[in-house]
Amino acid sequence: MSGKEVSQNEVLFERAQRTIPGGVNSPVRAFRSVGGTPRFFKRANGPHVWDADDKRYIDYIGSWGPAVLGHAHPEVIKAVQDAAVGGLSFGAPTEGEIVMAETLCEMLPSMEQVRLVSSGTEATMSAIRLARGFTGRDTIVKFEGCYHGHADSLLVKAGSGLLTFGNPTSAGVPEDFAKHTRVLDYNNVEQLHELFKASGSSIACVIVEPVAGNMNLIRPTHEFLNTLRALCTQHGAVLIFDEVMTGFRVGPQGVQGVYGITPDLTTLGKIIGGGMPMGAFGGRKDIMACIAPLGPVYQAGTLSGNPVAVAAGLTTLCLLKQEGFYERLETQTRKLVEAFNQMAYAHGETFCADSIGGMFGIYFSEKVPTSFAEVSASNRDRFNKFFHAMLDAGVYLAPSAYEAGFVSVTHDDAVIEATKVAIDRSFAAIK
Ligand code: PLP
Repeated sequence: MSGKEVSQNEVLFERAQRTIPGGVNSPVRAFRSVGGTPRFFKRANGPHVWDADDKRYIDYIGSWGPAVLGHAHPEVIKAVQDAAVGGLSFGAPTEGEIVMAETLCEMLPSMEQVRLVSSGTEATMSAIRLARGFTGRDTIVKFEGCYHGHADSLLVKAGSGLLTFGNPTSAGVPEDFAKHTRVLDYNNVEQLHELFKASGSSIACVIVEPVAGNMNLIRPTHEFLNTLRALCTQHGAVLIFDEVMTGFRVGPQGVQGVYGITPDLTTLGKIIGGGMPMGAFGGRKDIMACIAPLGPVYQAGTLSGNPVAVAAGLTTLCLLKQEGFYERLETQTRKLVEAFNQMAYAHGETFCADSIGGMFGIYFSEKVPTSFAEVSASNRDRFNKFFHAMLDAGVYLAPSAYEAGFVSVTHDDAVIEATKVAIDRSFAAIK
């Protein structure tokens, strides 16, 4: 496309805004944080995506996590085609769902039973209801900067102090709902002790992204996760690891495998659907026994366990069980992080990068942040400029300084090298 032609991305964005609020079906896609016109994609293959102008980008979003095998893996596509021919949805049980449940329980030792749903939001919302039903308590605890989908009680930020009630961060969430949610600082062990000491007997559950990926990439300390486990056990609260993003992304057993911690419940999504809508929640059998039809906690879904989504998810899980998969994913992600750090050093940029498994974070700050406050103190203006320079250079990063990035096994050495050239150019462009 020459400079004078109108971009089809702009044409489509203009058109989309007439019938879709903000022109997008999920807010971060609108580029509000970085400015400019969102790219509308036509197709994707391996590590690449193509926009409406047929411009190719190296993709480090991977559909926000699911595309760990690269886009349009031939075996996954074949499984989806075969399943579709057999019928799109039955609203009745299938053998495929059993195999999916058996596979998840085999891969995650903490999972004794599991229920399939259609999104990560449904998984966390259902897990919270289940924890409340199981314990007979109302209070839930979450951490600032962690995102668990858009259920009412999870769209809550802390009030002014640790022990104050939460305030809704979205219009439309009644304060009566928000008041049951307590929000603490990530990695802050003192706050945890204080809260459990003051009101441990009223806490139904703690939900945490055990490696946070929704405030950029933030690692937990071992002490933080160990304290969470110990306090929940001591006070009879349910520990929920929200591994919607990290599940099968940071390692074959998610964060729970990497850190050696057993949660009571785990929520999953993204990778387990292989790019199709799918989520799951599961864990201790005695807790899962409270779910309808066995128990009094209601939970249901017309498309739950959808046969096409199950086919995509199962094929994906089988492929990532292959020997050496995670070593390769981790190695390629580390190479990317090295490329970022080397180029930042060469350009004298205040910058650092980090990764765990197939997830990475880039930060315009001197050291890797450990909390939401530290991420917020990084130079977001520089990130925005860098984002656009990278986009011009053909690399698609997440359009926000608060998002993590994702690598697939199709990001081979040539792709990482091409990315390094783009990083070099982009740092030079924003000088
Ligand atoms: N939990 C976490 C950790 C997530 O990252 C997300 C989405 O990004 C969700 C839950 C919600 O999942 P979904 O967007 O599939 O509803």
